[in-house]
Amino acid sequence: MKKFLTVMLTLLMYSSYAQDAQVVAKVGVKVVEQAYVFAPLPYAYDALEPHIDKQTMEIHYDRHHRAYYNNFVKANFDTKGNGMTLEQIFDNMDAFPDVIRNNAGGYYNHEFFWSVMSPNGGGKPVGRLDEAITETFGSFEDFKKLFESAGVSRFGSGWAWLSVNSDGKLFISSTANQDNPLMNVVEERGKPILAVDVWEHAYYLKYQNKRGTYLSAFWNVVNWEEVARRYMEATQ
Ligand code: MN
Repeated sequence: MKKFLTVMLTLLMYSSYAQDAQVVAKVGVKVVEQAYVFAPLPYAYDALEPHIDKQTMEIHYDRHHRAYYNNFVKANFDTKGNGMTLEQIFDNMDAFPDVIRNNAGGYYNHEFFWSVMSPNGGGKPVGRLDEAITETFGSFEDFKKLFESAGVSRFGSGWAWLSVNSDGKLFISSTANQDNPLMNVVEERGKPILAVDVWEHAYYLKYQNKRGTYLSAFWNVVNWEEVARRYMEATQ
């Protein structure tokens, strides 16, 4: 019976992306805690036009992000990470195979990325975050240059981040592939509050090889309220 349930659960897990967690939670045996959710995009595919085009968003969310999620859930099914939060997995990243590192990272990083963009984005940071950026980087303009530079100089695929370190200080970093500052395998660890995806799939349709132009345009869609919220949470 147990074997039958395990087989059934495995089939369910592999069956389709969206309802996996719900279905398994209902059956509720072995993997009840593996309720990782594939959340809807918080705006329409064309909402970030003209800075980020509709087709890029559609492919990015519906194919790339979905694939990271599906591959993570499948790969994690029988690992000790099953039932852990993503943050707990990242804390112990070096104990997991690359398939988990790449896909848990891809899943988390993209959810994060969608949340720090908004059709009503742009402008400048707000509140205590504004002060911290000026204090750390000299000015908002200097911060933008350094952040863009982190994205432009990332060789190959990866991300640029603004994070809070263990002393509560802001720092800019970049990570390769789908790594992020929460993972215990990266050089500079911290709690991320802003991210930009610099994989070619994030910009190539509209900007081709001009990653710098994409990064300049990114400021028009940054959701500073959400970044400030994450900053307050990280510095509590
Ligand atoms: Mn991406």
